[in-house]
Amino acid sequence: MTSPSANVKLVSNAMANATRRKIMAMLVEKERTNAEIEKAVGAAMLDYHLQMLQQAGLAEIKDGTVILTDFGKNFMETKSAEKPAESINDLSGTKPLQIMEIRQLLPCIADESKFRVISRLEPALGGSLKLVEPLFTRARYSERIGALIIQSGNILITLYSTGNVTMTMIKSEAEAKEILENLKNTINKAIASGVTPVPREKVKVDHAEIYEYLPKTNCQICGEQSCYTFAIKLVGRETTLDKCTPLLEAKYTTNLEHIRALLEYL
Ligand code: SF4
Repeated sequence: MTSPSANVKLVSNAMANATRRKIMAMLVEKERTNAEIEKAVGAAMLDYHLQMLQQAGLAEIKDGTVILTDFGKNFMETKSAEKPAESINDLSGTKPLQIMEIRQLLPCIADESKFRVISRLEPALGGSLKLVEPLFTRARYSERIGALIIQSGNILITLYSTGNVTMTMIKSEAEAKEILENLKNTINKAIASGVTPVPREKVKVDHAEIYEYLPKTNCQICGEQSCYTFAIKLVGRETTLDKCTPLLEAKYTTNLEHIRALLEYL
């Protein structure tokens, strides 16, 4: 028989994962088939997630349907009763966004064939902005600057809680408009559905990705043997970005912005 402390550990491990929390939230509403769960959370490791929930005694599978156990129901009820009022935060009441005019199109310092764009979406999302982070594949909300940083290839989009938007490495005004339109539509779709995106696990960043944006001169100014070593130490938090002073050169402006964005993911 499993001891009570082992049970607590199993439950805590099971609920430590965002996908499993999402499955539990779905099961609170009603029982679900495997296919329904797969549609909502994806097929990756679904069997493993369900197994973790079963081992913790939170859910069980009966006739191909996943249901909450009595323990699972009690657990979820207690959890929602414990939730402090101020932590309940969703997109309901949020007004759809509109694109205001693109205010500035400036040449990028790093690459003059590209532009840095400053624009604005209204109304400002304020505190709701962090809730839309899971809508984007590569995005991270930074509490420090109060902005959502979204990566799309070489383009870096920073949407501030004030409504201001900056974009780097943009080819043309038409491209800027298209990106803004997609950004607006993605967020408005979530607002219209009335469903707040489920928080997901952190976007993973590794040293190889950071290395791509370093100067790659191996100049050793940072005190490391190579840019690659510096990238490894940055990810391990054994050094700080300001040690690479070459990154302050104008030609590396965009690289620096990208690395800063990636470090927000750590
Ligand atoms: S100072 Fe920057 S460019 Fe020079 S080795 Fe270190 S990481 Fe590379």
